[in-house]
Amino acid sequence: MIKLENLTKIYDTDGVKTIALQNIDLQINKGEFVAIVGVSGSGKTTLLNILGGMDIPTKGNYFFDDMDISHFNNKQLESFRRDKISFVFQNFALINSYSVYKNIEIPLLARNKKNRKEIIQRCMKQMNISEYAEKKVSSLSGGQKQRTAIARALASNSELLLADEPTGSLDTENRDIVMDCFKKINDSGKTVIIITHDMQAASKCSRIIKISDGKILLD
Ligand code: ADP
Ligand code: MG
Repeated sequence: MIKLENLTKIYDTDGVKTIALQNIDLQINKGEFVAIVGVSGSGKTTLLNILGGMDIPTKGNYFFDDMDISHFNNKQLESFRRDKISFVFQNFALINSYSVYKNIEIPLLARNKKNRKEIIQRCMKQMNISEYAEKKVSSLSGGQKQRTAIARALASNSELLLADEPTGSLDTENRDIVMDCFKKINDSGKTVIIITHDMQAASKCSRIIKISDGKILLD
């Protein structure tokens, strides 16, 4: 499903070059449940952003099925993200003044979905947040916000779910709840890739990829 070949990402900020990823070769098959681990600054977010079509590599190739994403223009990247990717952002990226229900509705409105109510109810049920449907996000706990963010990602029903540090701000109990949710999503046939620096969370995945200084250290 995913194949990275000799992938390199170099950021250039006012002439200062930072090598975030160096010659990455990686293959991830459909249905895998992968944890990407590594210390802060090792390149995890850069890798996830490229996988999610939010950024492009400086060198090398990214194949998704038979598409070469590395040469996509902005318009092509936009449809790639819409059709193939569900993304759970590190800071939730929820709208605080909206209810749980309304937040989950956003990707469905963007896709002009007709049966929104049905989809939203299914996703809330899957994440165990149905009882908070009409609550404003600002009044939820960290764990409830994280589950809302995952439910919103699920609503788009994409084949690849990416999550940047989904358990980062959670206590142990909520971390286990959230990891069980990802496990269930994976069991339902989706490919799931999460970033974490929590080895307890990573141990629930079926594959752990460790990156260090922009290189794969262990797989
Ligand atoms: P991680 O998610 O593992 O903490 P990142 O992928 O965010 O790592 O960062 C990898 C390296 O790239 C770091 O040295 C970071 O400072 C640098 N970096 C990340 N994003 C940018 C950016 N937009 N511009 C310049 N440098 C960046
Ligand atoms: Mg990061």
